[in-house]
Amino acid sequence: MTWGGRGSHYVAAGALAAGMLVWAAHAAWSSREIPVALPIVVTSAYDEWADTLGRREMLSDVLERAGITGREYVGFMKATHTLNPRRMQPGLIFEVRRVKGAAVANRLAVRLDPERHLVMARLGGDSGWTETVQNIPWTTERLRTTAVIQSNLYDALDAAIPDSFLPVRQRVALAWAIADVYDWEVDFTRDLRPGDRVEVLIERLQSPEGEKRLGRILAARVDVAGTPSFAFAFENPNGSTGFYDDRGRSLRRAFLRAPLRFSHISSRFGSRFHPILKRWRTHEGTDYAASYGTPVRATADGIVTEAGRNGGYGNLIEIRHANGIRTRYGHLSKFANGLHVGQRVSQEQTIGFVGSTGLSTGPHLHYEFLVNGRATNPQRKDAGAGEPVPSKLRSAFEVARAQLFGELEPGLVPAGPALGSVAGPARDD
Ligand SMILES: [Zn+2]
Repeated sequence: MTWGGRGSHYVAAGALAAGMLVWAAHAAWSSREIPVALPIVVTSAYDEWADTLGRREMLSDVLERAGITGREYVGFMKATHTLNPRRMQPGLIFEVRRVKGAAVANRLAVRLDPERHLVMARLGGDSGWTETVQNIPWTTERLRTTAVIQSNLYDALDAAIPDSFLPVRQRVALAWAIADVYDWEVDFTRDLRPGDRVEVLIERLQSPEGEKRLGRILAARVDVAGTPSFAFAFENPNGSTGFYDDRGRSLRRAFLRAPLRFSHISSRFGSRFHPILKRWRTHEGTDYAASYGTPVRATADGIVTEAGRNGGYGNLIEIRHANGIRTRYGHLSKFANGLHVGQRVSQEQTIGFVGSTGLSTGPHLHYEFLVNGRATNPQRKDAGAGEPVPSKLRSAFEVARAQLFGELEPGLVPAGPALGSVAGPARDD
């Protein structure tokens, strides 16, 4: 039960009652006495149930099942300013309550989105309905976790984080969020090695019903082949949050580490993989296995110098960047709408989609990074240095960094000021 506190209390009470009956019967059996039935009376003035808006259903279908038709329906619709019957997501769950014996429900509640809860209540007599929108008061906690890579980031987080800390979908979201922070720094599909560690300090949100979800990432440390790479969230004067390393340099660089977003590569490709692909003579580059149609990003700002069919590359895009660097993206199924030679593209812009054109045995992206015409392994220096924190914000950053560092790696900080609530499964194996 993920929401509907009242409903879950009823479930719990029912389960408890059943458990007591079993226990009573068992006790009686073992003492060979005649079982005495304990009267367990559960009474409620209401019937309560959950109803789900089905596919191709309308709000009126749910309301009809709740007895809200005719004049009641008109009164209900008049009272709501929030429910838009034309824009309702199938799967939306309505908690319905009806006085026992009544034909018409007198209360209907629905979670509109993660932040808001709507309650429609029927007033007595002919007074119609009222609408109340409640903000769901998610509480925020700071938690840290450490994961050790065995095969990939997903599995490492999955193994390190129990459901009670974050449910599985939120663990996946955490993997995506970490990869986004390190988009310019770490290619999580191939840079990590078994034994590398990921440490992260997050905000975790919890609703009154006990749901848990991921808030912001505040700080992280990823050890790539034994070398630590830090990320500290710091709010810029314009209100946007950027991530900076331990020396105050932005994690944003001239080049992304990978042309595919980590969250767009299915989890089974999350590990380092060795594709069994026909090697073609001129093959020099990096192959990314991904589903057909996965968006391909320009890894840096530049100008399109080629967009068309090119032998074994199939559909190929080439982009010219600063400092004599070019990037190539091969085997594409198609190009982004209107993409043409001479066009200026920006970093992260979608330029095409993964395919299997040219000499290719399955959908994948062939990516090349050429320095002065030679295909090379992109080096950190080619990506440029990140912009440092502006000097007038330097001392503010240092304070924020020290605080976050202390929370991220509490064991490494000498006794100091209290750091607030820091808890969570910190595995140190
Ligand atoms: Zn290739």
